[in-house]
Amino acid sequence: MVQAQTYQDASRTLLEQGFAELEQRDLRQASEKAWGAAAQMLKSIAERRGWEHKGHRFIRRVASRLANETGDVEIRRLYRVASDLHTNFYEDLDTAEDVTSGLEDVQRFLDKLAPLLAMARYLVNPATNVVHREGGCSDARSHGDTWNPVGYFSSLSEAAVVGGSSPDTVAKSCQNCSRGEN
Ligand SMILES: [Zn+2]
Repeated sequence: MVQAQTYQDASRTLLEQGFAELEQRDLRQASEKAWGAAAQMLKSIAERRGWEHKGHRFIRRVASRLANETGDVEIRRLYRVASDLHTNFYEDLDTAEDVTSGLEDVQRFLDKLAPLLAMARYLVNPATNVVHREGGCSDARSHGDTWNPVGYFSSLSEAAVVGGSSPDTVAKSCQNCSRGEN
């Protein structure tokens, strides 16, 4: 989880800078840092999951997808707040109170997303009983849609235990997908 930790740190650092700029009444810079923090966290999750994330449109889709998957509607609302802060960087319309409230919401957004970054979805191929990480290898990408999702886990080996076809069977971790994990 070293990589995930680094991403999280980068995102938190950006938000801390935003709070410092808010204190100096640099509302536009503070707004942009908060947007950057949220975008960075969403990109990190997308990268881990093998989702497209280059460009504002795709970052928005990542938030939407996470909201759908988790059933947490607040993810959608908090994304809007972060996106509004990005707009404020260009238009400079928000008051200090608006930006303060926005940064607090982004803080909350990061707290909400952090556990999702540590987790990934795994898929079990029922034919081979091999568990792949979503976005982990080309094999997982080509067959992923037709497989049964195992669920959210923090590691491939954890998913493999649960992914067994019967309680007595432990599925095998895909060697390709386990590269670069943990
Ligand atoms: Zn794989």
